[in-house]
Amino acid sequence: MSYKMLADAMLKDITKTRDYYLEKYKKRNLKEGAKVTRYAPSPTGFQHIGGVFAALTAERIAKKSEGIFYLRIEDTDQKREVEGAISDTIATMHNFNIDFDEGMVNDYDEKGDYGPYKQSKRGEIYKTFAKELIEKGLAYPCFCSEEEINKIREEQTSLKENPGYYGKWAKCRNLSAEKAIEKIENGDKFVIRLKSPGDIEKRVEFHDLVKGNISFPENNQDIVIVKSDGLPTYHFAHAIDDALMGTTHVTRGEEWLPSLPIHVQLFDVLGFTTPNYAHIPQVMKLDGEAKRKLSKRKDPESAVSYYREEGYPTQSVIEYLLNIINSSFEEWREENPKASYTDFNVELEKMSKSGALFDIIKLNDVSKNVICRMTSEDMYSLYIEWAKEYKENMYNLVINNENMVKSIFNIDKDGAKPRKDYGKWNEVEEKIYYFFDELFYGEKEEAIEMPKNVSLEEAKRIIDKYKDIFNITVDQETWFNGLKEFAVAEGYAADRKSFKKNPESFKGMVSDVAGIVRSALTHRTNTPDLYTIMVILGEEKVRERFNKFI
Ligand code: GLU
Repeated sequence: MSYKMLADAMLKDITKTRDYYLEKYKKRNLKEGAKVTRYAPSPTGFQHIGGVFAALTAERIAKKSEGIFYLRIEDTDQKREVEGAISDTIATMHNFNIDFDEGMVNDYDEKGDYGPYKQSKRGEIYKTFAKELIEKGLAYPCFCSEEEINKIREEQTSLKENPGYYGKWAKCRNLSAEKAIEKIENGDKFVIRLKSPGDIEKRVEFHDLVKGNISFPENNQDIVIVKSDGLPTYHFAHAIDDALMGTTHVTRGEEWLPSLPIHVQLFDVLGFTTPNYAHIPQVMKLDGEAKRKLSKRKDPESAVSYYREEGYPTQSVIEYLLNIINSSFEEWREENPKASYTDFNVELEKMSKSGALFDIIKLNDVSKNVICRMTSEDMYSLYIEWAKEYKENMYNLVINNENMVKSIFNIDKDGAKPRKDYGKWNEVEEKIYYFFDELFYGEKEEAIEMPKNVSLEEAKRIIDKYKDIFNITVDQETWFNGLKEFAVAEGYAADRKSFKKNPESFKGMVSDVAGIVRSALTHRTNTPDLYTIMVILGEEKVRERFNKFI
């Protein structure tokens, strides 16, 4: 009996051929150098920041080359599937400005000519190619039960042989077609295995775009390509999908690197051209001294939702991820402060080979720069969008004081050294609360900060006098000169130098008087420019606060 008969017995319903699919999925007509990349998640429902990292890398590579970036759903492990996960993935990515040219558009529908883009809908395609391999004697049915497989492994362990299903250990490899058909007709369950042509003594050389030149032993394992439930394994689906969908660059997590010998072999056996590979580092964090994978269970920052809840603008997260993708991004950003991040050229070759270190402190730094470059109008709209969801009291206060809040966000924005007060929106309240009477007067006495070396009594005395002479209708310099004159008249030194020369003859220096005024108005010793704060509060509120302070 022939392989052909075996193939028919195994996959009766499969009537299409390889040529049918090669005809259906035509070679893409793209301009020279255009790259086709994909994001290929399993729909498990958890959006890991590592997913955004991978998707952003792939999206940038495609977009910068005027290629195609598509979304393929790898749902062959149906136990892990979560309802609504596809739409959630699409929405999450969209929020990071990552959109797909092709692929799933929600949980059910899709766009593009290379579909279905959901692996569970591609069963017939996988089986067609598996059937072809069986016909050629390059794949075969395996009827071994789990117990039998375990027994093989035990024997291999005791003989110190490499574990796995290969060579002489592959019991079903040499089963005659006749015997196999008999078993199938008998209703025995089977998986389909590749009859690996590999020799572990030989090596394959490979060039990975991130890792560089690598070399590994050929695969000699008869890996499963179609499981007993009729669904393909990752390996088989990967080779067929990426070939038929015309992926030119497979960018995926480095955890797949050890499987590369299998994949290269599959492309070869299937008669497809191997795509370019870029195995991108996994997102790691420093835990004490040790680097480890960012964990869903232990690290809240592994979830994409974390960034939204904390109030990091998505722009900040994007720029931070770009920093991890290519460390040269930081310098580029300094040189091009106004450019869109999409002008930056992501280069796979410049990615770190050893692991992408994720660091919240650095993220905060990047984010401060991003927010600092925003106009106060943009800050205002992003802030209220966040506050509406996560900080209702602030939302109400802020929308009722729109102009004031915009002026606050605008403090020291221009100039050579703009202020970098905010890294994320949940830091705003603490930094601006004193502008709102509702929050300011509700503050407990212990929270009031006073300049060092000034007694409360003296502070009250100063404010009692200053309240009658302060003037904020003049420009900043005139205002400050007024404050200085007042301070000198009250026994304070006009500047640090004269104070240092003769500390006994002064109560302090002008900065102490400014500090007293600052405390009276804000309860803080460290704030943006005092004059600007007074102007924003307005004369009436300033006077009211002085009076209450006394
Ligand atoms: N579904 C695989 C994963 O989530 C995709 C790997 C790939 O991009 O090929 O790890």
